[in-house]
Amino acid sequence: MNTTKKTNNSVNKVFKFGGASAASIERIQKLPGILRSYSEDNILVVISAMGKTTNALEKVVEAFYGGHREEALQLFQQVKDSHLTTAKYLLVSNYLAAEAQLKDFFTEVEWLLHDKPVRDYDYYYDQVVCVGELLSTSIISAYLAESGIDNQWVDVRDIFRTDDNFRDAAIDWAFTQSRVQTEVLPLFNETRLVITQGFIGSTSENESTTLGREGSDYTAAVFANMLDAESQTIWKDVEGVMNADPKEFPDAQLIGELGYDEVIEMAYYGAQVIHPKTIKPLQNKGIPLYVKCFLNPALPGTVINSHTAKGLPPIIVLKQGQVLVHLHSKDFSFVGEKGTAALYQLFEELRIKPNLMQSGAVSLQVCLDDRADKIEKLALTAADLFDVQLEKGLTLLTIRHYNAEVLERLTAGKTAVLRQQTPETVQVLMR
Ligand code: ASP
Ligand code: MG
Repeated sequence: MNTTKKTNNSVNKVFKFGGASAASIERIQKLPGILRSYSEDNILVVISAMGKTTNALEKVVEAFYGGHREEALQLFQQVKDSHLTTAKYLLVSNYLAAEAQLKDFFTEVEWLLHDKPVRDYDYYYDQVVCVGELLSTSIISAYLAESGIDNQWVDVRDIFRTDDNFRDAAIDWAFTQSRVQTEVLPLFNETRLVITQGFIGSTSENESTTLGREGSDYTAAVFANMLDAESQTIWKDVEGVMNADPKEFPDAQLIGELGYDEVIEMAYYGAQVIHPKTIKPLQNKGIPLYVKCFLNPALPGTVINSHTAKGLPPIIVLKQGQVLVHLHSKDFSFVGEKGTAALYQLFEELRIKPNLMQSGAVSLQVCLDDRADKIEKLALTAADLFDVQLEKGLTLLTIRHYNAEVLERLTAGKTAVLRQQTPETVQVLMR
């Protein structure tokens, strides 16, 4: 038999637990069981902020930046209370140590909230919002230790170096890679579990940064890449990747295996699956991504890898709140040249991503998300070249790997205002 011996300080797996898996005491209590069932592995564990904590912290920043200090402090008090309550419930022997750690993070934020804002909104956002993951990981690390699961807690801001593009910071790949080698890998000589945060990092000036909402999947993928992990697993409160949103389609089915490319396509059309940024670091090293359900780890879940999965079911994405912009050339000049070029430039300036576009001899039709501010600017500027008409309240249906039956069923009783079709994908904008 071919046995390959693991060296101590190599990492086999990267796990990411999302906010939903830390949303309640009962859910956090599932983590020890899951981690125990992987007792043969060295695992780097990335954990998000608990439940809706990130949203709650966003409210704190809004109040602070709006000049409402008392309200900001009050809102932050609620975040403090809920974390202290969770810690008290989960911890006995480790409670005091964990409380001291939490209080250090509280103090950092409160100092900042007592000043007047003098820098950019985005700067304050990152200094406050990063605390969510620091609090959740501190509590969970202490709880795992108390449950007999030895682990090391790491402040990922000491590892992930970023630029200072607050709220959408870019990782300094080379610096971070060297910190992973010198600071993270050696920890696995002492323990088989390292617990750290997703979504956050730090500049060379030691200012906290965030990588963009839903950034924890991406953090985990960067770790998996840099550690040459054999796999990454994202633990969610759903069975795996489904072919449609089960809230809208009760007969949605699980997809067992998917290619990296398919996930990127699905995300492009608006499916809320996995953040598309997550795929590249994994794809580059051919690391498979498992999506599993922490409520029932025995379920098979989904694996995302480099194979091109065959026989996929129709994958359905519904986007509500769409606007159709009709642009009609004013002087009947040919739309295809000047008009389209000017329009694309406008998209770039306004950071608009058209969801669907169709051009005719003297007119163009563009389907966009209804972002009132952007649509207004677009309509105003385009009015120089075109007569502009808007139609709001539309739904965009996208079906990949469609067939006649499913298309018929999902468009029955609706009026199609725009439609585009390739052998793989059909899109219908419906009224
Ligand atoms: N806590 C952050 C958010 O809610 C990051 C994440 O969960 O991925 O966006
Ligand atoms: Mg999340």
